[in-house]
Amino acid sequence: MRVYLDNSATTKLDENVLKEMMPYFTEEYGNALSVYSLGQNARKAIEDARIKVAKAINADPSEIYFTSGGTESNITAIRGLAYSYRRRGNHIITSKTESPVVLETCEQLEKEGFEVTYLDVDEKGFINLEKLEDSITDKTILITIMYANNETGVIEQIANIGAIARENGIFFHTDSSYAIGNVKIDVKREMIDSLSISAHKFYGPKGIGALYVRKGLKFKKFQVGGHQERNKRAGTENVPAIVGLGKAIELVYEDFEKQIQKTIELRDYFFSEVQKRIKNVYINGDLKRRLPGNVNFSFYDVEAEDVILNLDMKDICVSNGNVCISGSLEPSHVLLAMQVPYDIAKGTVRFSIGKYNTKEEIDYTINTLVEIIEELRKIEKEEKNVCRFAEQCGGNCSGCHK
Ligand SMILES: *Cc1c(COP(=O)(O)O)cnc(C)c1O
Repeated sequence: MRVYLDNSATTKLDENVLKEMMPYFTEEYGNALSVYSLGQNARKAIEDARIKVAKAINADPSEIYFTSGGTESNITAIRGLAYSYRRRGNHIITSKTESPVVLETCEQLEKEGFEVTYLDVDEKGFINLEKLEDSITDKTILITIMYANNETGVIEQIANIGAIARENGIFFHTDSSYAIGNVKIDVKREMIDSLSISAHKFYGPKGIGALYVRKGLKFKKFQVGGHQERNKRAGTENVPAIVGLGKAIELVYEDFEKQIQKTIELRDYFFSEVQKRIKNVYINGDLKRRLPGNVNFSFYDVEAEDVILNLDMKDICVSNGNVCISGSLEPSHVLLAMQVPYDIAKGTVRFSIGKYNTKEEIDYTINTLVEIIEELRKIEKEEKNVCRFAEQCGGNCSGCHK
């Protein structure tokens, strides 16, 4: 049995989504710019998907642009808005716990003459709204704060940030690539000016996403050439993927409440069993304001890599949360920003539960995890404390061989 508990990294494609996409690979292969009906069928499929995406976030279809995913949407929004409103000011506000794409885009903009404030977060993972207000200057043009953190799952106070931005005449972008599909987002109520969507985070295909930009806002385009996406993103549209995104976002919000309830039940069960059966384990991030499926544990006295590799040997897929830098032993910038001590941060493992997970899988994971942590801690302790020659010293060990 394979247990997939890394739904924050990506999700399994829903079969109903695949079914919806298939005809656009085989029968309906027209170019959406062509005038004959084969092309117009593709055009209609794209526009239908646009309506579905818009409806999911309470936007207008004319505010939705298809992109290659969350990464491109974030870059286009942040750079696009920054350059379009540069004459108004050059100051951007973000936080230290953003995903690498937002952080690196901001760092790049700094090299190009923009000024960026990186807000701290508290130990629960939230920015401080007063500090946000204090950091606004008459040069501030953009606030970019993620909707929910991809490592800890904590959900920021988006509507309050939106209100602060709007009061001050500043644009508000949110990286919601991880949040969409796990929480209901309303761009009007939450006063969001732009946001990013990534289909593969909610059972859609990889390599497709969308960007929402509020009507009336200007943003510079980076991909030039053809006139696709209302002249904002050149390149022949990936029709099957766009159809898949539309279907996936429609499905995920169709029986949303029921699905979320099931996920929360599994998560809470997982939470409580692990805490009951494993000592010295710490949950990262606020316990209430967080996405339903995310469990981020720090296990004392173990290395995350060892836990992940041992779980993999039992066919359980989890990660250390920072998929973009995994493979390196660097501790997560998110946990360090939350003041989690280095020693504890290094034992951090993220489990993310999705709609295909069952109670049986969670039980298997808990049992396996208990064994692995016990074993790893035993090894760690032996390596640390026991001298190979202790017996020969007859209890008078002076630590000479340690
Ligand atoms: C997945 C993710 C991205 C990147 O989205 P892609 O579609 O994979 O490019 C960006 N930000 C966050 C928070 C994410 O979870």
